[in-house]
Amino acid sequence: MLGSGIIKGLAVTAKNFAGSYYDPQRMVTVEYPEQRTNIPENYRNFPFLVTENATDPMGTLRCVACQICEKECPPQCIIIEKSKDKKPDATGKMQLYPAVFGIDTSVCMSCQICVEVCPFDAIKMDQVFEIAATNRFEELFLDREKLAKPNSYYHQIHPTEAAEVDARLTADRLAAEEKAKAAAAAKAAAAAAKPAPAPNASSVAGVADPGPTPASPRPAIPPQPADAHVAPAPKAPPPTA
Ligand code: SF4
Ligand code: SF4
Repeated sequence: MLGSGIIKGLAVTAKNFAGSYYDPQRMVTVEYPEQRTNIPENYRNFPFLVTENATDPMGTLRCVACQICEKECPPQCIIIEKSKDKKPDATGKMQLYPAVFGIDTSVCMSCQICVEVCPFDAIKMDQVFEIAATNRFEELFLDREKLAKPNSYYHQIHPTEAAEVDARLTADRLAAEEKAKAAAAAKAAAAAAKPAPAPNASSVAGVADPGPTPASPRPAIPPQPADAHVAPAPKAPPPTA
Protein backbone atom coordinates (compact mmCIF):
# COMPACT_ATOMS: atom_id res chain seq x y z
CA MET A 1 0.00 0.00 0.00
CA LEU A 2 1.29 3.42 -0.85
CA GLY A 3 2.71 5.14 2.25
CA SER A 4 2.91 1.99 4.41
CA GLY A 5 6.66 2.50 4.90
CA ILE A 6 6.10 5.97 6.33
CA ILE A 7 3.49 4.63 8.75
CA LYS A 8 5.87 1.86 9.92
CA GLY A 9 8.67 4.36 10.45
CA LEU A 10 6.45 6.69 12.48
CA ALA A 11 5.34 3.70 14.58
CA VAL A 12 8.95 2.85 15.44
CA THR A 13 9.66 6.49 16.31
CA ALA A 14 6.60 6.66 18.55
CA LYS A 15 7.55 3.39 20.22
CA ASN A 16 11.04 4.65 21.01
CA PHE A 17 9.75 8.05 22.15
CA ALA A 18 7.30 6.53 24.61
CA GLY A 19 9.71 3.79 25.70
CA SER A 20 12.54 6.25 26.38
CA TYR A 21 10.71 7.37 29.52
CA TYR A 22 11.07 3.99 31.22
CA ASP A 23 13.53 1.83 29.18
CA PRO A 24 17.19 2.96 28.76
CA GLN A 25 17.49 0.71 25.71
CA ARG A 26 15.04 3.05 23.96
CA MET A 27 17.36 6.01 24.47
CA VAL A 28 18.81 6.21 20.99
CA THR A 29 20.87 9.32 21.70
CA VAL A 30 23.35 10.22 24.45
CA GLU A 31 24.12 13.62 25.88
CA TYR A 32 27.71 13.77 24.62
CA PRO A 33 30.16 14.80 26.03
CA GLU A 34 28.50 14.53 29.43
CA GLN A 35 27.41 11.02 28.56
CA ARG A 36 29.43 8.48 26.63
CA THR A 37 28.70 5.08 25.27
CA ASN A 38 31.08 2.19 25.72
CA ILE A 39 33.40 1.83 22.76
CA PRO A 40 33.35 -1.67 21.21
CA GLU A 41 36.58 -3.58 21.84
CA ASN A 42 37.41 -3.85 18.16
CA TYR A 43 36.97 -0.15 17.45
CA ARG A 44 40.19 1.42 16.13
CA ASN A 45 41.46 4.69 14.78
CA PHE A 46 45.21 5.44 14.87
CA PRO A 47 48.22 3.32 15.90
CA PHE A 48 50.26 3.59 19.08
CA LEU A 49 53.55 2.00 20.18
CA VAL A 50 53.49 -0.56 22.99
CA THR A 51 56.01 -0.20 25.83
CA GLU A 52 56.67 -2.83 28.47
CA ASN A 53 57.20 -0.45 31.36
CA ALA A 54 55.16 2.70 31.93
CA THR A 55 57.91 4.25 34.06
CA ASP A 56 60.49 3.93 31.27
CA PRO A 57 58.52 4.15 28.02
CA MET A 58 61.43 5.04 25.73
CA GLY A 59 63.66 2.40 27.27
CA THR A 60 61.14 -0.42 26.90
CA LEU A 61 59.61 0.12 23.48
CA ARG A 62 58.91 -3.23 21.82
CA CYS A 63 59.74 -1.68 18.45
CA VAL A 64 63.15 -2.69 17.07
CA ALA A 65 63.03 -0.29 14.10
CA CYS A 66 62.83 -3.05 11.48
CA GLN A 67 60.90 -0.56 9.29
CA ILE A 68 58.50 -3.18 7.88
CA CYS A 69 55.48 -1.09 8.86
CA GLU A 70 57.04 1.97 7.25
CA LYS A 71 57.42 0.11 3.95
CA GLU A 72 53.95 -1.46 4.06
CA CYS A 73 51.93 1.60 5.11
CA PRO A 74 49.79 2.39 2.02
CA PRO A 75 49.77 6.23 2.35
CA GLN A 76 53.39 6.23 3.62
CA CYS A 77 52.59 8.20 6.75
CA ILE A 78 55.11 6.42 9.03
CA ILE A 79 58.63 7.82 9.41
CA ILE A 80 61.33 5.75 11.17
CA GLU A 81 65.05 6.28 11.73
CA LYS A 82 67.09 3.46 13.24
CA SER A 83 69.33 4.03 16.21
CA LYS A 84 73.09 3.82 15.78
CA ASP A 85 73.52 1.78 18.95
CA LYS A 86 71.63 -1.08 20.60
CA LYS A 87 69.98 -1.48 23.96
CA PRO A 88 68.39 -4.43 25.74
CA ASP A 89 64.75 -5.10 24.98
CA ALA A 90 62.20 -6.39 27.50
CA THR A 91 63.82 -9.85 27.41
CA GLY A 92 67.38 -8.55 27.78
CA LYS A 93 68.34 -9.16 24.15
CA MET A 94 70.34 -6.36 22.54
CA GLN A 95 68.26 -4.70 19.84
CA LEU A 96 68.15 -1.58 17.71
CA TYR A 97 65.43 0.90 18.59
CA PRO A 98 63.73 3.75 16.74
CA ALA A 99 65.69 6.95 17.24
CA VAL A 100 62.82 8.60 15.35
CA PHE A 101 59.32 7.18 14.97
CA GLY A 102 56.50 9.37 13.74
CA ILE A 103 53.02 8.92 12.30
CA ASP A 104 51.16 11.65 10.47
CA THR A 105 47.63 10.95 11.68
CA SER A 106 46.22 13.51 9.25
CA VAL A 107 47.18 11.05 6.50
CA CYS A 108 46.67 7.71 8.31
CA MET A 109 43.59 5.89 7.05
CA SER A 110 43.28 3.48 10.03
CA CYS A 111 43.78 0.42 7.83
CA GLN A 112 45.73 -1.46 10.56
CA ILE A 113 48.18 -2.91 8.03
CA CYS A 114 51.10 -1.68 10.17
CA VAL A 115 49.73 -3.77 13.05
CA GLU A 116 49.26 -6.85 10.87
CA VAL A 117 52.81 -6.82 9.50
CA CYS A 118 54.69 -6.04 12.72
CA PRO A 119 56.58 -9.20 13.79
CA PHE A 120 57.16 -7.90 17.33
CA ASP A 121 53.61 -6.92 18.42
CA ALA A 122 55.05 -3.46 18.90
CA ILE A 123 52.35 -1.37 17.26
CA LYS A 124 48.63 -1.58 17.98
CA MET A 125 45.50 0.39 17.17
CA ASP A 126 44.32 3.03 19.63
CA GLN A 127 40.76 4.14 20.36
CA VAL A 128 41.29 7.84 21.02
CA PHE A 129 38.98 9.82 18.75
CA GLU A 130 38.89 13.29 20.30
CA ILE A 131 41.77 14.63 18.26
CA ALA A 132 40.44 17.91 16.91
CA ALA A 133 43.36 20.28 16.33
CA THR A 134 43.97 23.68 14.80
CA ASN A 135 47.48 22.94 13.51
CA ARG A 136 47.83 19.91 11.33
CA PHE A 137 51.62 19.65 11.32
CA GLU A 138 52.30 20.26 15.00
CA GLU A 139 49.36 18.52 16.61
CA LEU A 140 48.45 15.68 14.25
CA PHE A 141 52.00 14.47 13.65
CA LEU A 142 52.66 12.12 16.58
CA ASP A 143 56.29 11.45 17.52
CA ARG A 144 57.45 8.42 19.50
CA GLU A 145 56.95 10.16 22.85
CA LYS A 146 53.29 10.79 21.99
CA LEU A 147 52.83 7.35 20.43
CA ALA A 148 54.27 5.32 23.32
CA LYS A 149 51.68 3.75 25.64
CA PRO A 150 52.15 0.95 28.16
CA ASN A 151 51.02 -2.63 27.72
CA SER A 152 48.55 -2.09 30.57
CA TYR A 153 46.76 0.49 28.38
CA TYR A 154 46.63 -2.05 25.57
CA HIS A 155 44.95 -4.50 27.98
CA GLN A 156 42.50 -1.80 28.96
CA ILE A 157 41.26 -1.03 25.44
CA HIS A 158 41.67 -4.45 23.75
CA PRO A 159 41.61 -6.99 26.63
CA THR A 160 40.98 -10.12 24.55
CA GLU A 161 43.60 -9.32 21.93
CA ALA A 162 46.17 -8.18 24.51
CA ALA A 163 45.76 -11.39 26.51
CA GLU A 164 46.39 -13.45 23.36
CA VAL A 165 49.49 -11.41 22.54
CA ASP A 166 50.88 -11.74 26.07
CA ALA A 167 50.30 -15.50 26.07
CA ARG A 168 52.10 -15.82 22.73
CA LEU A 169 55.03 -13.64 23.77
CA THR A 170 55.39 -15.55 27.04
CA ALA A 171 55.38 -18.87 25.16
CA ASP A 172 57.99 -17.52 22.71
CA ARG A 173 60.22 -16.35 25.58
CA LEU A 174 59.95 -19.69 27.37
CA ALA A 175 60.74 -21.57 24.16
CA ALA A 176 63.79 -19.33 23.57
CA GLU A 177 65.01 -19.94 27.14
CA GLU A 178 64.56 -23.71 26.77
CA LYS A 179 66.43 -23.65 23.47
CA ALA A 180 69.30 -21.68 25.03
CA LYS A 181 69.47 -24.10 27.96
CA ALA A 182 69.49 -27.13 25.64
CA ALA A 183 72.26 -25.57 23.53
CA ALA A 184 74.34 -24.84 26.64
CA ALA A 185 73.85 -28.41 27.93
CA ALA A 186 74.85 -29.92 24.57
CA LYS A 187 77.98 -27.73 24.49
CA ALA A 188 78.96 -28.79 28.01
CA ALA A 189 78.38 -32.49 27.15
CA ALA A 190 80.52 -32.20 24.02
CA ALA A 191 83.34 -30.57 26.02
CA ALA A 192 83.19 -33.38 28.65
CA ALA A 193 83.27 -36.15 26.00
CA LYS A 194 86.33 -34.73 24.23
CA PRO A 195 89.45 -36.97 24.97
CA ALA A 196 92.30 -35.37 26.91
CA PRO A 197 95.64 -34.90 25.00
CA ALA A 198 98.21 -37.80 25.41
CA PRO A 199 100.98 -37.00 27.97
CA ASN A 200 104.66 -36.64 26.86
CA ALA A 201 106.60 -39.94 27.60
CA SER A 202 109.85 -38.24 28.74
CA SER A 203 108.03 -35.98 31.10
CA VAL A 204 106.31 -39.05 32.56
CA ALA A 205 109.68 -40.78 33.17
CA GLY A 206 111.05 -37.72 34.89
CA VAL A 207 113.75 -37.22 32.30
CA ALA A 208 114.41 -33.69 31.34
CA ASP A 209 113.60 -32.97 27.77
CA PRO A 210 116.92 -32.18 26.08
CA GLY A 211 115.19 -29.94 23.67
CA PRO A 212 115.72 -29.88 19.97
CA THR A 213 118.70 -31.88 18.60
CA PRO A 214 121.45 -29.59 17.23
CA ALA A 215 122.11 -29.96 13.56
CA SER A 216 125.20 -32.16 12.82
CA PRO A 217 128.08 -30.25 11.15
CA ARG A 218 128.37 -30.98 7.48
CA PRO A 219 131.88 -32.11 6.25
CA ALA A 220 133.78 -29.40 4.45
CA ILE A 221 134.06 -30.01 0.72
CA PRO A 222 137.70 -29.52 -0.48
CA PRO A 223 138.10 -27.00 -3.19
CA GLN A 224 138.49 -28.53 -6.62
CA PRO A 225 139.89 -27.12 -9.87
CA ALA A 226 137.23 -25.82 -12.07
CA ASP A 227 138.01 -28.35 -14.82
CA ALA A 228 138.82 -31.36 -12.57
CA HIS A 229 135.78 -33.22 -13.73
CA VAL A 230 136.63 -32.83 -17.42
CA ALA A 231 140.47 -33.28 -17.42
CA PRO A 232 141.39 -36.82 -18.71
CA ALA A 233 143.57 -38.96 -16.48
CA PRO A 234 147.27 -39.17 -17.74
CA LYS A 235 147.92 -42.41 -19.70
CA ALA A 236 150.70 -44.77 -18.62
CA PRO A 237 153.69 -44.80 -21.10
CA PRO A 238 153.79 -47.92 -23.36
CA PRO A 239 156.27 -50.65 -22.15
CA THR A 240 159.70 -50.58 -23.87
CA ALA A 241 161.08 -53.78 -25.47
S1 SF4 B 1 46.87 2.26 10.10
FE1 SF4 B 1 47.38 2.04 7.91
S2 SF4 B 1 47.61 4.14 7.17
FE2 SF4 B 1 47.69 4.24 9.41
S3 SF4 B 1 49.89 4.13 9.89
FE3 SF4 B 1 49.10 2.01 9.95
S4 SF4 B 1 49.50 1.22 7.86
FE4 SF4 B 1 49.66 3.45 7.78
S1 SF4 C 1 56.51 -1.10 14.82
FE1 SF4 C 1 56.97 -3.24 14.37
S2 SF4 C 1 57.12 -3.36 12.11
FE2 SF4 C 1 57.24 -1.17 12.71
S3 SF4 C 1 59.47 -0.80 12.86
FE3 SF4 C 1 58.72 -1.31 14.93
S4 SF4 C 1 59.10 -3.53 15.10
FE4 SF4 C 1 59.20 -3.04 12.90
